[in-house]
Amino acid sequence: MTAAGAVTGSTVKCVVWDIDNTLLTGTYLESGDEPPGADPVLAAVLAELGERGILHALASKNPPEAAAHTARVTGWRFAAAECGWGRKSGALTTIAATLGIGVDALAFVDDDPYERAEVAAALPGVLVLSPEEAAEAAGWPEFSPPVITAEARRRGEMYAERQRRQEAGRAFGGTREEFLASAGTQVTIAAATAADVPRLAELAARTRQFNSAAGRDAAAEAGEAGPPGGGMTQDWFRGLLPAGDCDVVTVRLRDAFGDDGMVGGCVITRDAETWTVPLLMMSCRAMGRGVIDALLAWLTRQASRAGASRLRVPCETDGRNVPLRLALAAAGFRVPGRLPAVYERELGAPLPALPGWVTAPGEAGPASVADDLRAFLAAATGRDELLHIPAGTALFGEAVGLDSLTGTLLLREIQRRFGVDVAGEDLNLDSLATLGTLAAFVAQRARPEGGP
Ligand SMILES: [Mg+2]
Repeated sequence: MTAAGAVTGSTVKCVVWDIDNTLLTGTYLESGDEPPGADPVLAAVLAELGERGILHALASKNPPEAAAHTARVTGWRFAAAECGWGRKSGALTTIAATLGIGVDALAFVDDDPYERAEVAAALPGVLVLSPEEAAEAAGWPEFSPPVITAEARRRGEMYAERQRRQEAGRAFGGTREEFLASAGTQVTIAAATAADVPRLAELAARTRQFNSAAGRDAAAEAGEAGPPGGGMTQDWFRGLLPAGDCDVVTVRLRDAFGDDGMVGGCVITRDAETWTVPLLMMSCRAMGRGVIDALLAWLTRQASRAGASRLRVPCETDGRNVPLRLALAAAGFRVPGRLPAVYERELGAPLPALPGWVTAPGEAGPASVADDLRAFLAAATGRDELLHIPAGTALFGEAVGLDSLTGTLLLREIQRRFGVDVAGEDLNLDSLATLGTLAAFVAQRARPEGGP
């Protein structure tokens, strides 16, 4: 069975639920001192879909307390809640924007036929369901992602972390770059392993706004024999891993607010002159966190260092991957020919800088620098516990207790090991405050080329 009038071929990322007579067995405002309980059938659907990485949100004509009550009685932490007396289609649009997903990735469940008709008319891409239909939804393909990864199971939690991060970002006084650094952002670019394959296939299937293939068959273009009909399946990624002229790359993201796991990846094919990226993909969760810019900068630096003269990213132009195409343009890529669009970047100097919080093959990243500094401090002071101090530890605080002699030795070691003259930059350790900021500074300056 499928819902009448449902027009969707892709997987639902978030279900937006009505509260009164949908998730609750009655009406919140008309129930006096004892608000109604959760509908047991739909509460079970919440849990089952949540296990598959599908998010849940609330849209209700009620005061915000109704959302808090619904969260309590269903035992569910909703990724977003819009309570008010406006149109439900408006609430759904706000929820999609809050979560950074497309409106067509939403489903909507409401007992009121008027509300369902309003949303169906205003937002034809939304899968609109009655509570009875939603009770069976777990069996439908729209609610059955092809693979369920560790990232998928943590998805609801990661959206809660995202809300806390966004609030902190709004309260922060400095620039976006300063906020990313102060939030302890760590981007790790690495060669893919077999264990990464399920998540790579999931990213290929789920990403839209940052996906260069956008439905095109990148598998066929990369020249590898895929399964019948092609497609960027687990088998395809697995087949690429041992190929000598092809690299599969993963991108992971974490900060002080939480660990987002693998948020992106790309496939690179190369010859002497040209590096080509037949597939570039990034979760919209990473949007605004400097990750796509870091990946493009790293690709440019690596291709240039390998002696290539051009970096190409064939990019299908569909309405939804505008954010990716803007990022390509901002990174200096241009479309020299006619459609189909192939974004190209000449690799002459100067190379783009890579922020200090990116760790990547061929780059002296802050994480590895920080480990080296911990090892030095532990050896210089004879205190092994310094091997495990967090990046945010103040160098002159109690935990490290740096004195002027050890500080001088540390600066000498940095110069010896990384070729970075901290004092020569008119800086002292006081102004670099913590192990993490010192490591980021050293990593940035230690780069052989392209640093600011
Ligand atoms: Mg209702």
